[in-house]
Amino acid sequence: MAKIIHDREACIGCGTCAAVCSKHWKMDSDGKSRLIGAKKVGKNEELEVKAIECNQDAAEACPVNCIHIEDGGKRKI
Ligand code: SF4
Repeated sequence: MAKIIHDREACIGCGTCAAVCSKHWKMDSDGKSRLIGAKKVGKNEELEVKAIECNQDAAEACPVNCIHIEDGGKRKI
């Protein structure tokens, strides 16, 4: 299992994650993105996934590096 973490406070609402990974990301009415199906953990959104899939593309493309991925308990990005 991997964990996708969205530091929503740092999100600038550029829309890139939703563009490159619409299966997992969408824009919300407050102008920031949402990690679909994620739970709120402190100020972050977190989602456990079996496969990282396009979340890798979203994390790499995020201009403020507010999408993080942990795989096997280790931070990948
Ligand atoms: S790419 Fe990053 S800054 Fe842009 S909407 Fe997604 S999480 Fe927010």
